[in-house]
Amino acid sequence: MTKRTPIIAGNWKMHNTLAESAALIEGLTKNFENKQNAEVIVAPSYTSLAKVAELCKGTAIEVATQDVHWEDKGAFTSAVSPVQAKDAGATHTIIGHSERRSVFGDTDEILNKKVAAALRHGLTVIFCVGETLEEREANKTLSVIEGQLEGGLKGFTEEQLKGLIIAYEPVWAIGTGKTATPQQAQEVHAAIRKYLAGKYSDAFAQATRILYGGSVKDSNVDEIMAQEDVDGALVGGQSLIAEKFRRIINFN
Ligand code: PEP
Repeated sequence: MTKRTPIIAGNWKMHNTLAESAALIEGLTKNFENKQNAEVIVAPSYTSLAKVAELCKGTAIEVATQDVHWEDKGAFTSAVSPVQAKDAGATHTIIGHSERRSVFGDTDEILNKKVAAALRHGLTVIFCVGETLEEREANKTLSVIEGQLEGGLKGFTEEQLKGLIIAYEPVWAIGTGKTATPQQAQEVHAAIRKYLAGKYSDAFAQATRILYGGSVKDSNVDEIMAQEDVDGALVGGQSLIAEKFRRIINFN
């Protein structure tokens, strides 16, 4: 079985001033401990991006944007391009977070263009998928996720998608305090891996890291990470608290 390096990623969303961002990085990096040798990523908001990237230089923490536009530059008020993201120090970008899908109307087609732009500029993509509670209750979880993967990753070869990270984030578990059970997470992660094996190759499926996101906490990370197909966590709320996020990084 392929050994996949775990990833613990923090999505700061629309939180933190510059000073708060700096304090959080200080709290994370002081006597940094990483028992599992996890890849650690933080996704600050754009205003803190360059500062956080600067502070993370020489540490084991990588920096992501929470989204990226599909054009390199132009008249797209408020958007940030992959060129700007890289220039500010990002190596990764989240694409397709459920808040982007539901609040900002990012469709599969838009997300597909964003993935293309990120790949074109060498940003590693953390592609988020997940079902709503209604979809879960209607037994549509796997078909919804498959549709999101089909739409968002349409047209790319396995070679182009090399290094892709997928985050399974059930919408009903994001920011709600409700976490999927480890079994629910494992079931969907295994289905995603099976989908990747069918669509691309077994080697690609085995190498692709699939993160779970949705109310991951210091108190539940261990059981979630114990699942065979869970390769990491995308953490919202608790990534804003240094001690909590440090404990998540050092899951058992
Ligand atoms: C997220 O923002 O991707 C997320 C999973 O948030 P939370 O951990 O707060 O549920």
